[in-house]
Amino acid sequence: MKDLAGANLDKFKDPAVTAKGETRATVALTHPETLWFNTGTLCNIECVNCYIASSPSNDALVYITADEVRDYLDQIKARDWPVHEIAFTGGEPFMNPQMIEMTEAALAAGYEVLILTNAMRPMMRKSMQVGLLRLNKAYPGKLTLRISVDHYRADLHDAERGDGAFDKTLTGMKWLRDNGFRMAVAGRSVFADSDEDSRAGYGRFFAEHSFKIDAQDPGMTVLFPEMDESVEVPEITTACWSILDKSPDAVMCSSSRMVVKRKGAAAPAVLACTLLPYDPEFELGTTLQEAERDVALNHPHCAKFCVLGGASCSA
Ligand code: SF4
Ligand code: SF4
Repeated sequence: MKDLAGANLDKFKDPAVTAKGETRATVALTHPETLWFNTGTLCNIECVNCYIASSPSNDALVYITADEVRDYLDQIKARDWPVHEIAFTGGEPFMNPQMIEMTEAALAAGYEVLILTNAMRPMMRKSMQVGLLRLNKAYPGKLTLRISVDHYRADLHDAERGDGAFDKTLTGMKWLRDNGFRMAVAGRSVFADSDEDSRAGYGRFFAEHSFKIDAQDPGMTVLFPEMDESVEVPEITTACWSILDKSPDAVMCSSSRMVVKRKGAAAPAVLACTLLPYDPEFELGTTLQEAERDVALNHPHCAKFCVLGGASCSA
């Protein structure tokens, strides 16, 4: 659903036309390289500003199963999509009891796997540790865990995530480091640090703990902007690409889709991207074939994060 406010009230209504009557921009799926799976919205913690409103009680998106993941992996081959990466996000993916089985299915099918996690208790359970160790050994260099570290300072991280969260995540990261896992980090720009200052701070944090993560590489230290839907944003028209000198191929929905399973739904659904999990307009169907259609940029996020801000969730 669109939570439009203030100056955006008249905008983002018609998928074909903007409030000013201009043709709205669309994005074609030109190079589907990453297929995301949302493992479910349940999370062991409840962060301020969680983009998907995860919590220990939010099961709006229920646990996807390994059989469902395998079905979509088969569809990738059948549709001949040039996917090289399967990515899992939540909620907290390691809350899903079939997380290891799903990861193994993706690795066995030949894909690189990216898992977004807070590296806390769900990942540190014995069954998950044993599974991760086995898969990292069997598929060397193919598995990356992207850890959410909202800020490299414990007090600011805990202000978003709750007291003691930083130390628990640090414990998980040290376990990953000591067992040779490839790690990336997702940070946030909610604290208004400049990109340069943020990367310098993360660099010091990584060096202090001997984490092999490049703070200057935007693919390994990913800094996400905040999503405030009340801020006025322009609507993106077909003329914007040349005005901004930007290609639709640089936008996430040209290269990825996300599979989710809604509570009560008979089957999983395929969404345009990871950024709009609850808006029915961005649900494209139940199969990858149905999800091959163009996406109309009819949401403030499309303008703010993708076209004007350059957001990308891809590793
Ligand atoms: S750990 Fe991630 S998914 Fe869980 S509440 Fe925090 S931001 Fe949301
Ligand atoms: S939010 Fe971005 S990736 Fe998602 S549909 Fe809009 S432009 Fe595409």
